[in-house]
Amino acid sequence: MADSAVIVGAGVIGLATAYRLARDGLAVTVVDATRGENGASIHNAGWIVPIMSAPVPAPGMIGQALRWMARKDSPLYVRPSPRPEHVRFMLSMLRHCNPRDFHQGLEALASLNERTVSLFDEYEKDGVRFEYHRTGQLMVFRTRETMRGYVEAAAPLERIGHTAAPLSGDELRDFEPALGRNVQAGLQCPQERHVDPASLVKGLEARCRELGVRFLYDRPVTGVRCRGPVVTSVLAGGEEVSGDLFVLAAGVHTGSLSRLAGFPLPIQPGKGYGYDDTSGSVTLRHSVYLGEAKVAVTPLSDRLRFAGTMEFGSFDATIDPRRLRGIVRSAHDYLPRFPSTARPHGWTGLRPMTPDGLPIVGSLPGRNNLLVASGHCMLGVTLAPVTAELVAAQVRGSHQSSGIARTGLSFSPRRFASRRVRALGDS
Ligand SMILES: Cc1cc2nc3c(=O)[nH]c(=O)nc-3n(C[C@H](O)[C@H](O)[C@H](O)COP(=O)(O)OP(=O)(O)OC[C@H]3O[C@@H](n4cnc5c(N)ncnc54)[C@H](O)[C@@H]3O)c2cc1C
Repeated sequence: MADSAVIVGAGVIGLATAYRLARDGLAVTVVDATRGENGASIHNAGWIVPIMSAPVPAPGMIGQALRWMARKDSPLYVRPSPRPEHVRFMLSMLRHCNPRDFHQGLEALASLNERTVSLFDEYEKDGVRFEYHRTGQLMVFRTRETMRGYVEAAAPLERIGHTAAPLSGDELRDFEPALGRNVQAGLQCPQERHVDPASLVKGLEARCRELGVRFLYDRPVTGVRCRGPVVTSVLAGGEEVSGDLFVLAAGVHTGSLSRLAGFPLPIQPGKGYGYDDTSGSVTLRHSVYLGEAKVAVTPLSDRLRFAGTMEFGSFDATIDPRRLRGIVRSAHDYLPRFPSTARPHGWTGLRPMTPDGLPIVGSLPGRNNLLVASGHCMLGVTLAPVTAELVAAQVRGSHQSSGIARTGLSFSPRRFASRRVRALGDS
């Protein structure tokens, strides 16, 4: 059993893991290239949504992507890029767009999400201070046809207590009068929650500090030192940081760090856009998913947050104003009191995407004491506490027998290893 742990990345995944391991009594150090405020963990919709466990690579996604490619303001866009990692990633994702992989992934994520909501409640009880809303979610649609896919994807979540009840347009407007007349149908998902993501990151960091976690900020990790299969230290801002155990939770950069440790993982960015509206022109009680537009609307204590768009192929934070305008137009379409002419101040976030749409949690092949916790795609906030449980179970060595770790098998980094490497691990 390890006594000390070094976690690379102070996003929501790294912080949740640091918190969990510190509670288990480990001496934890968190290292981050920045002060932890630039990652996707601040720039997201803040939804805790097991009901949206469907993996991104889905049957029909290819056709949809091709139809949308011509539109510069569409919710999904693949930027042409000659980078070999990007090309390999997109081809691999296409191979996963089939019913078998989709349903297996959905079932695995449903099992992983079984304790999600109760773990967030435990955060609150343990003194993690964050803005937490239990008002539930509405998914709204302009056509019943679009809703059908969401009904099917929500069905497996019923066994873990997350339901999606169909409502008519008028019933939806009774819940949220700001919705326009063109909303025809929707789903009420009362068990879903939402948070202010920045407050969650801050709250976890503060609780980690109370538990004695050490933070090393502004120190990019540029090297991994090993003795045989054992990692001994990471090189962070020129300083060697040693420990018994290492966890890579560096979001979209986890793939390049795992390469430094000898095993490159296929994690690529899926850029999302958003903005915060403080005009008060629309008020909502529930978080609302604008179905056809794939836009998330989150009511926070002092603002309404809009987030959406999945852009593959760009690794930077630049804002394409056409994509932002696409979100504004969708907002006006479904919530007509929101002005279509608004020129909001936008932001972007890079989701760590994997080709099969599943997170990567577990030991890196060939390295005894290096774990990965990344690739959470569109669900990093939702899955942060349960990811930390999975890491903690593996650190305790109880992962062979415990329920959480049996669930975790689907998420192992070994699924990206060659047959030869997998066979070596089994022997
Ligand atoms: C628009 C949008 C909306 C979203 N909405 C939701 C939602 O509603 N619900 C949900 O569950 N998820 C949502 N997500 C997804 C979620 O935000 C991500 O899955 C999650 O934040 C990933 O967290 P992370 O800790 O892995 O990565 P990050 O938050 O990116 O953190 C990684 C950290 O690693 C650090 N780092 C990187 N490289 C190095 C290095 N070499 N050395 C040291 N440190 C390094 C970075 O500085 C960063 O602080 C959304 C994402 C976007 C973009």
